[in-house]
Amino acid sequence: MNRRDLLKLSALTSILLLSGCTQIIPDPIIRFIEIEPDYKMMMKKSKQERVVIVGGGWAGLSMAKNMKKNAPDMDVILLEQRTQFFSLPISNLWLVGAIDMEYLIHDYLQAARENNYVYINTTVIDVDKSDQVVITTHGALDYDYLVLAPGIEYDYSDWTLNNRSARELQTLYPAGFLSSSEVLSIRNKIFDFQEGVFLMNVPSGNYRSWAAPYERALLMADFFKKEGRNVKIILVDENKEIRIHKEEIQKLFKKEYTDVIEFHPDTRISWVDIKNKKVIVDGDVEFSFDDAILYPKVKSVPLLEKIGLLDGEGEANIKPLTNEFVDYDNIFVIGDARSMNFNRLGSTALSEAKQLSKRILYRSQGEEYLWTSPKSLSFCALSVDPLKLLALQGKYSYDLLENRFNFIEKKMKRKNLRNEDDNSLYEWATGAFNELFKA
Ligand SMILES: Cc1cc2nc3c(=O)[nH]c(=O)nc-3n(C[C@H](O)[C@H](O)[C@H](O)COP(=O)(O)OP(=O)(O)OC[C@H]3O[C@@H](n4cnc5c(N)ncnc54)[C@H](O)[C@@H]3O)c2cc1C
Repeated sequence: MNRRDLLKLSALTSILLLSGCTQIIPDPIIRFIEIEPDYKMMMKKSKQERVVIVGGGWAGLSMAKNMKKNAPDMDVILLEQRTQFFSLPISNLWLVGAIDMEYLIHDYLQAARENNYVYINTTVIDVDKSDQVVITTHGALDYDYLVLAPGIEYDYSDWTLNNRSARELQTLYPAGFLSSSEVLSIRNKIFDFQEGVFLMNVPSGNYRSWAAPYERALLMADFFKKEGRNVKIILVDENKEIRIHKEEIQKLFKKEYTDVIEFHPDTRISWVDIKNKKVIVDGDVEFSFDDAILYPKVKSVPLLEKIGLLDGEGEANIKPLTNEFVDYDNIFVIGDARSMNFNRLGSTALSEAKQLSKRILYRSQGEEYLWTSPKSLSFCALSVDPLKLLALQGKYSYDLLENRFNFIEKKMKRKNLRNEDDNSLYEWATGAFNELFKA
């Protein structure tokens, strides 16, 4: 294989590697990855200080907007591999036909245009930390400050160590916690599912959006019931107890949806028998299913590992109160890609990014911006028509002795709206979309 072929393969692999199918690429291919030593620069070196942001999710979009707003003289560039933004928050309502897809999709060009930063549709494949250069599939870019906001990756290793089986699981039974394609698949499955057993699970660990798997089961039960379909939902929860809104959700499982939802707490799926459509749980018990949504554990994206920024636990190796990497004070990580028992929520990511934009501005002026807690807000829809919700607000405190964050939660009282929609979820989402995409 000559150098050109190798580079071609390298580019192809990089695209595959970073398009959501990372850990399921066979090892031999991964070993071919090589970064061109003579990478071509995509843009001239900036005269202004340059902030490059990797990932245009809730964290990256908020970061780009607030960085430019707080420091108009800085050159702010957002690198995102997707061509359009798809909101995962609220997507459970779309799964059961309660909202239009247009509500979830947003335009990166508008965000960049209205907020005066540069958006480049590309995939970041490496970072040269000593030269301060980000390498993408379209060329390289120098930075003064680098903010990594690439979200998370699935970790199928509890169920299979075979890359091909992991790919098969993701294709057949997508979790719907990463990409719009997965969410589309799930919606089609729900609409097509006339009768039988639909199996779902809740992983353990700090998975993305604690409420979302319960919310999805409730909304699906509500949908199947209203459609008069003979469906049983088996919900296998690896956690000892329902992770959030325990009493309210338990009550609904036991009373309102007892004929639809069969709930198995403290039950771990140890293996998925793809051929026979069965999951094997602890104690060798089996559950057969006709269709399923399988949510594996989550982990750091491989890009962080590739550029040597993970600690021994596989988490981003950052200083807790400044988000900067331990060995590089000009490289930061925010959003779901950060670890440390922060709730993996878009609201947290958005709020944390605002703060980091100030920290970077202060640093460029030789000062330090002190940490304050980001704010979290998560919703859990219980039914549609009328739309009933639970909501949890929260802040964090940092325990210096224990070296960890504690979540201080505040349940938001819902109005007792028996026959009216509770619109606070839409109010929050519309506000967030305006904040991220408009000036
Ligand atoms: C069903 C569901 C319901 C939810 N409900 C709520 C809720 O009520 N409230 C709430 O606050 N949150 C909720 N969330 C959680 C929320 O979606 C996430 O916490 C949020 O998306 C995290 O934002 P992020 O920017 O860190 O990551 P992401 O949104 O995942 O964004 C990461 C971005 O980085 C890009 N990227 C990754 N690697 C590269 C690369 N190498 N090069 C270029 N681009 C790259 C990806 O394409 C992606 O666009 C929910 C999630 C789900 C699935």
